[in-house]
Amino acid sequence: MEQKRIEGLWDCVFCSTKGIRARFDTCPNCGKPRGIDTLFYLPDDIESAELTKEEAAKTTNEPDWLCEYCDHYNRSDVAVCQKCGAPRTGAKKNYGTLHHLTGKF
Ligand SMILES: [Zn+2]
Ligand SMILES: [Zn+2]
Repeated sequence: MEQKRIEGLWDCVFCSTKGIRARFDTCPNCGKPRGIDTLFYLPDDIESAELTKEEAAKTTNEPDWLCEYCDHYNRSDVAVCQKCGAPRTGAKKNYGTLHHLTGKF
């Protein structure tokens, strides 16, 4: 069984930009951070959304976490905020899974 990682998409609620890739934590159009209740969805064209091996290596399947001090999104595999250095234990909020798996059996 080979699993392929698909990058989720989200829509900006501020400027209505649609289909922003999960790798961006701020809107490329208006620069606002994605909100705490941002929903991720899978693109229609799954094939083109497939991450390369290189890209997949840079992402994880765990939910990202948000630093409660500086609101910076951090990968699930880091213990301290990559921006301000605050420990993850301080993060109260945990966000939805950003990356989706699809399996070919
Ligand atoms: Zn926007
Ligand atoms: Zn921080």
